[in-house]
Parts: sequence; structure tokens; C-alpha cells
Amino acid sequence: METSLNDSEVPSRQLHRPVSFLVVDDEQRARKSLIELLNTNWTDITEAEDGEQAIALIQKRQFNLIILDLNMPTKSGDQVLAFIRDNKITTPVIVISGEASINKVTEAMRLGAYDIFRKPYNFDELEHAIRNALDKSRIEEEKSQIQSRLEHSEQLHRYMVDNSPDLIYILDLEGRFTFVNNSVKRLLGYDKAQLIGKHYSDIVVEEDRLKAEYVFNERRRESRSNRNVELRLKCIPTDPSRPFEVTTRPIELNSMGIYAVDASEDKEVATYQGTYGVARDISSRKEAEKMITYQAYHDLLTKLPNRAMLYDRLDLAIKQAERTGEALIIMFLDLDRFKLINDSFGHVVGDQLLIEVAGRLKAEIRTGDTLARLGGDEFMLLLPQPTSREQAERVAQKLIASMQQPFYLKKKEVYVNVSIGISVFPDDTDDINMLVKNADMAMYEVKSSGKNGYVFFNDKLEHAAAEKISIESGLRNAIKNDELEMFYQPQFDLRSERIVGVEALLRWNHPKLGLRSPNYFIEHAEESRIIDQLSEWVFNRVAVDLFSDKTFQDSDIKVSINLSATDIRQKEFPESLVSYIEDLHIKPSRLEIEITENMFMSDMQSCIYKLRVLSNKGISIAIDDFGTGYSSLNYLRELPVHTVKIDYSFVSEIERSEKGAALVAAIVGMAQGLGINVIAEGVESTAQSEYLESLGCNIVQGFLFGRPVAVNDFLGAVATQHAKISTQSSA
Ligand code: C2E
Ligand code: MG
Ligand code: MG
Repeated sequence: METSLNDSEVPSRQLHRPVSFLVVDDEQRARKSLIELLNTNWTDITEAEDGEQAIALIQKRQFNLIILDLNMPTKSGDQVLAFIRDNKITTPVIVISGEASINKVTEAMRLGAYDIFRKPYNFDELEHAIRNALDKSRIEEEKSQIQSRLEHSEQLHRYMVDNSPDLIYILDLEGRFTFVNNSVKRLLGYDKAQLIGKHYSDIVVEEDRLKAEYVFNERRRESRSNRNVELRLKCIPTDPSRPFEVTTRPIELNSMGIYAVDASEDKEVATYQGTYGVARDISSRKEAEKMITYQAYHDLLTKLPNRAMLYDRLDLAIKQAERTGEALIIMFLDLDRFKLINDSFGHVVGDQLLIEVAGRLKAEIRTGDTLARLGGDEFMLLLPQPTSREQAERVAQKLIASMQQPFYLKKKEVYVNVSIGISVFPDDTDDINMLVKNADMAMYEVKSSGKNGYVFFNDKLEHAAAEKISIESGLRNAIKNDELEMFYQPQFDLRSERIVGVEALLRWNHPKLGLRSPNYFIEHAEESRIIDQLSEWVFNRVAVDLFSDKTFQDSDIKVSINLSATDIRQKEFPESLVSYIEDLHIKPSRLEIEITENMFMSDMQSCIYKLRVLSNKGISIAIDDFGTGYSSLNYLRELPVHTVKIDYSFVSEIERSEKGAALVAAIVGMAQGLGINVIAEGVESTAQSEYLESLGCNIVQGFLFGRPVAVNDFLGAVATQHAKISTQSSA
């Protein structure tokens, strides 16, 4: 609403408006002569021949001046005057009458006549009186217009003030409220009357009082005054069940001094009267700000601090520890098998698990410690208070123990463990990034040595990290420098005493260290993605080594090739392998690929699909190291598995314990029950071999029957076998 009205200003059109007259006289001649005289100055003249007609006209329209005779039939001039008075009509009336009686004159004056002239009158005098009356009436009218405008304007301002969403107030010289608008009830819960007379400091939150003093006591005016100062005001508790709970409202305050200006002859003197202020409710802005800061510093799933907050606190803690010379500890926590749970139960359940894990971990730490979620299943714990290794160890043990009880997800019991890497400032390093990296490295050490435990960072780990880097860079050159070799280990059928299969095993002929097993390098090859090139190289070499040999080509000996998880995870994995072996002229029926259980546990569904593609093409699939990984056995129904390979660790137990022997028997029995081939790996003794044979596990692989050897040695054995078969069949 626009309110640019200036109250002291009278619009100029009011000054020059046309003036309308009503001339009332029962004597027509007197009326006409008066009108004639008036016409020299004014034109808008209406006439009435008696009081009744006059009243009717006055009711109909408004005149600026009425000239009235007193003695008239029907209604007299007095009656017209009385009517005018009673109806609060402000039009001035000049009476012209033949009546000379003083009574009549006083009566007319009492009834509100402006002036009275006796017939015959002097027109100049009358004109003078008319002008005076018009002036006076104009001034009256203007005054009343101004008055009504002022009233209207004050109403408007009051309306605006009262209905403003902001809290508007005035304080007296002492800082007491003399005025507050309606908003005070909505914003702070007070009735207006409760605040009037109260000191402002009564409603300011204690901690903000000092700041409030400057704003509430503002004496400056306009642009020099206080602008947008943020404060918190106390509210009346709205929850009746908690009458003593102090709730507060954040506001933004603008205030300025109020002055009364006294203009004396030569200068204006302004005296301070109090302070006027507007307080804007900024709760929602504060809420939004809080939310934004919260999001920037928290993990929204677990509500734990995030990496940014952890680094902030770690930075602070390091600075403090540097000053005091004390130690501080960080722990890198990673859940074991979380991916598996996430994949098998879905992300919603996975998220739920993370929330519950966060809750359990948090319950084990002290208030000053920071537990943050870095993302995925990674957490980091900062123990900033002076801490010893022993204390850290106790905390780690408590954290691990907190995971002992199962979690219930979708009514199923789920167990998760946590691997913890610990790094100590300043023992390990005084650099924040290195500290985190060391803890991470220590955590990986836990993972690779069997998970669920804790390890302090140490120099050996650093050495291992350095070794890792050197292996990776060495591997990159291995293919180019022709340092890779393929070894072949036969698989024997105990019944026919023939080689029925061969496992291709990769070797790295390291320039300094000599022949190295894949155990030394395959993990690094996987991590650095060099594995892709290695696998390609293996297939190529097997094709060249074996399938270019006529005797081998003509035999029905199967080749087993080991694949790594990274191979299978390739998006176009099954199709590219199929077309690759086609290019190499390897018949699918002669190929068995070996995978370990853990490989397909990470993404069962896509694994099923991929292995079916291979199986449908006639390629066999063997589960390597059977029984050592995540054996849910369920997968044996779902996956197209042709062979299980009993791991060396079980075979070696056959002679050592009854349990070991029983376990092997159980695996063989199960495979037979499912109609799956079974091969025993790492067979080193006749006793093992005889036991396996007694169980019906007839295919064996191990040092007892042949070590992994170079291609020529292996092909020699194949040739010997071939010759033997030929002589047998010709004999
Ligand atoms: P694996 O597939 O279980 O291979 C059997 C391992 O047991 C081989 O070790 C072999 O030399 C060893 N072995 C065989 N018979 C005996 C025995 O009687 N006693 C004992 N103690 N050990 C025996 P190797 O060659 O060092 O290979 C280690 C692992 O590396 C393999 O285990 C396989 O998982 C992986 N690997 C080998 N070649 C390749 C390859 O070309 N690609 C990939 N991705 N992995 C490979
Ligand atoms: Mg194998
Ligand atoms: Mg194996």
C-alpha cells in the first residue's frame, strides 16, 4: 500500500472550487434582487420560496452558503436553522430578515446563523460577510478534511504497525517498553500488557545481554544507527507441561533514537526521548543455516560427523597435542564383509546396518572423542585427549567386542566384524595426512591377515607399502621384458592312472628375486588393474604352449586356468572370453576356468548370469580352494558349477586328524550327491591319495603326482602317456 500522504498539505483544488448558494425567501422580488447582486460574483445559485422547499433542497445537495429569510410560511427560517443544526450540516447560514426584534436575532444566532442582516441591507457589507463565511467554512472544511486524513493516516500506521510480522517497540529513556505491537504475542508469547513498563533486558537471553545493550540503547538516528544485529529473545514457554523450559527466538534488530525537536529562533534542539526498534524473527533463516552447516559437517545417514568435521577436529587436536607434547590417536575402522551384506540384503538393509553399527561404536567412546563416517563402511575415530597405546588398545578391543552380538536385519541374524588400523601422533608421523594414511595402511594389514582385529601402524607396514609400489611398477615391465612364464601341473585320474587335466600356473621370473609365485604378486596386479594384461597373456601363452602341440591337441586333457575377481567383474567379461578363446582356437570343451567362492559372493546375480554364458558355450567351471571362502553352499545350486577343488589345507589334514579326514569325506560326499566333479589339490602323500580314492575322489593334483613344471617337461609327460596308451591299445 502506498501512503505518501503528507498530512500538512492541502490539495490545491480545494481552494478554487466553484461556490454554490441557496437563497431562501418567500418574497420573490427580494430573492431576485439578491440573486442579481450575487450574480456579479457567483453563478451557482439555487432558490427556495419557503422553509420546506429549502429543507428539501438541503437534504438533496450540499451548498457552500445559505442565505435565509426568517419569516416564511410553512417552515420558518428558525426551523430551517434548527434542521441544519440537528443534521450537523456545516454550511454557513447568513440570515437576512425584516425582523428587528432582539429575541429573534439572538434565537437565530443561537441556532447557528453565521451572521444576520436586517432588510434593507448594504450589499457591500453582505458581500463582505459572505466572503468571510465562505472563507471560514472553507477553512473549517479543510481542517476537518485534514483531521479525518490524520485520523485515517494514524489508523493506517497503527494497522501497519500492529499487523507487521516484525516485533515493533518503543523504549523510554530508561530502556523500558512504552509500546509493543501485536506481534509480541505470536513471536514471544507475551501479552502486550505484560511487557509495557518492563526493562528490555528482561527478555534478552543472558549471553546476548552485552550485545543487546548497544542496540537497545541506541541513540543514533537513521543511517548511523544499529542495523541487523542478531540477538536471542526469551519466549514464554508454550508447552504447559514444561513451564520452566526457556525457549528463545533469534531475531535481527534494527533500532534508532527518537528525538523531540524544539526549534528556537536560531537553532533546533533535539532531545532524546527513547528508542524505536524493529525486531525481525529469523528462526527459519537460522534453521536453514543450521541445516546447511549440519549437512556440511555430518553424514546424513548415521548422523555422525563426516570427513570434513573429522579433519577440522583432527587439525585442532594436533595443534593442541603439539603444544602440550601429548600423544593423540586415530583409528581407521572398516567393516568386514559389509559389501556382501549390502549385496545380498539390499541397500536399505545395508543402510540400517550402518546406522546400528554407528550406534554401537558410539556407545563405546567418550564425549571428547570424535567418531566420523568417512563413507561406505569406513569410519574414523579420533581420541584427542592425552592417550597411551594401552588405552587405544582397550578402546579398539571394546569396539571389536561391541560387534560380537548379532544385528537383526529383516529378522535375520547378521554378524559383522570390524578391522581397525591405529596410528599414533607424534610417534608415527606429525603430518595429518600421513597419520590418516598410516591408520588406513594398518587397517589393510588387519584385512589381509584375516580381518576382525586391530593393528598399530609400524615400520614393517611402511615397508610393505613400499614393496607394494615396487611390485606394481615391476609388474608393469614384466610383460614387456618377457619375465612371465607359465608352469603346468598335471591332474591325475587314480583309476586310469592317466593325466586328465592340467592347471596352468603363472610365474614371474623376477630379475632380482628369481621365480615368484602368483601369491607374491597377483593381489597387487588386481589392485593396479595390471591383471587384465596378465590374464590376456596367460590365455595367449596357454594357446601357444599347449594347443600348438599336436599330441596335446589330439588328447582330451582339459586345461584349468585361474581367473581373478577383477576378470569376472569386467562388464563384457563372458562374451569377450568366449570370443577370445575362439580366436585362439581353444575348444570350449577343453577349458575349465577356476574361480574362488569369494569372487562371486560380491555380486551373485551378475555372476550367475556370466558363468551361465560360459557354461552354455561348453566351458567348465571349477570352484577353487573350495571350503576356504565364504561357503554358503547355496550357490552350488544356482551356479553352473562342474567341479569343486578341495583345498590343500583340507587335504593336508587327512592324516593329521580324524576331523580333517571327516571333513574331506563330507566335501566329497556332498559333491557326489550334487553330481559335481571333485578334485583334491595339494596331494603330497600316498596315504592321502589312498584315502581320497577310498572316498571315490579319483582326480588328484599335487606334488605326489607332479609339481608345476615348464611347458616342455609337461608336454614330455603327455607324450610319454600317449606312447604308453598307444602301445597298450596295440598290444
Ligand atoms: P591355486 O589355483 O589353488 O593353485 C594351486 C597352488 O598350489 C599352486 O600354487 C601350486 O603350485 C600349489 N601346489 C600344487 N600342488 C601342491 C602340493 O602338493 N603341495 C603344496 N604345498 N602346494 C601345491 P601357485 O602356483 O603358487 O599358485 C598360487 C595361486 O595363484 C593359485 O592357487 C591361483 O589361485 C593363483 N594363480 C596361479 N596362476 C594364476 C593365473 O594365471 N591367474 C590368476 N588370476 N591366478 C593364478
Ligand atoms: Mg587353481
Ligand atoms: Mg587351489
